Amino acid sequence: MATQKKTEKISLRQLPGPDSRAFQVFFKFQRIRDAFMMIWGKHWKTQDSWPLKHDFSYCNAMSQLKVKQKQQSAFTYRDFLDLNDVNKAYKSRLAVICHIDVNAFFAQHEQIRLGLTPKDPVVCLQWNSLIAVSYAARDYGIGRMDTLQSAKLKCPKLIVAHTAVFKKGESTWSYLDYLPSPVDHKVSLDPYRRASRKIMRIFKSNCDHVEKASVDESFMDFGRLVFRKLLELFPNFLEGLESVDDRLPTLTQEMVDSVALQWKGLVIPKPGEASDEDGERNIDDWDDLLSLIGSNFASDIRQQIVDQLGYTTSAGIGRVKTLAKLASGFKKPNRQTIVRNDAVGPFLKNFKLTDFWSMGGKNGEAIMAKLDVPYSSQGDEIAG
Ligand SMILES: [Mg+2]
Repeated sequence: MATQKKTEKISLRQLPGPDSRAFQVFFKFQRIRDAFMMIWGKHWKTQDSWPLKHDFSYCNAMSQLKVKQKQQSAFTYRDFLDLNDVNKAYKSRLAVICHIDVNAFFAQHEQIRLGLTPKDPVVCLQWNSLIAVSYAARDYGIGRMDTLQSAKLKCPKLIVAHTAVFKKGESTWSYLDYLPSPVDHKVSLDPYRRASRKIMRIFKSNCDHVEKASVDESFMDFGRLVFRKLLELFPNFLEGLESVDDRLPTLTQEMVDSVALQWKGLVIPKPGEASDEDGERNIDDWDDLLSLIGSNFASDIRQQIVDQLGYTTSAGIGRVKTLAKLASGFKKPNRQTIVRNDAVGPFLKNFKLTDFWSMGGKNGEAIMAKLDVPYSSQGDEIAG
């Protein structure tokens, strides 16, 4: 009894934040329910310690996920509870960080503004430089290093949209139906900034910790999202908590089956898993399950962006920002990639050191030269 009281006290104290009132009501309900079950001679734990309740609106099929090993969890209650604290979550060993990036943002913005489809080859032009190339235009071999003339040679039906401009002496920007000249005009990026703010609003309406990385990409700490979802899926999850340093319950096949979610996106295989994209991806511990839940949140947010604004995006999910960023760029456009902790090594073999965030350009090259890092096939060293 004393243990139970201690557990309740810890649970309530560890659940601060905007929903703390809701959680207190929730745990009070749990205690009433447990008392009821005990009166009937069937304690909840003996009847069904992991109620098979789930009601995810984005759950579209029964999961076929497998628990590969039945082993003690590598994670503690502290790792899990930290997810509910915005100042600790990103450092937790169970952290779920998402990076979402709009595909060819400026070109996609122009495609939508002009009422075109993703199949139309569109480039966004600033004077004679291509500042964004749609994926349909990339299919013609057009890249940002092309000039307008060389791009048109590659694709005669290329649709060229110049950025909005201010005419000299005017205070409002406009799109022109002729190519402006830098002599009489000044480029305005306000339309893209406005679109960027709308995208950011969607991120912030879903996630309480968003870090803008640029005009068209953001990092999100999914800590509270996955924390709450796990407690929804497993309402008794914190019942066994006596010390925050105790290991989390062992994840069983029954628990994973009860979640009834599917991976959303490309899941990088762990060592020993099939390399084909449709191969089985195991849920070996709670970090994998939280990645699975995170993949559903990322998919949901990306769908909101499509529905409300029309932009396709790419997303990456990993334990830290660097991994999430590498993952979002791994498969483009309109895809998402998930890197589970045990798949980090194999995943990093796809990259050079200069592919890492902030390591591109001259800085990265200088660091590589200084450290005498080889320019290719160094994945093993990085992964190690
Ligand atoms: Mg982008």
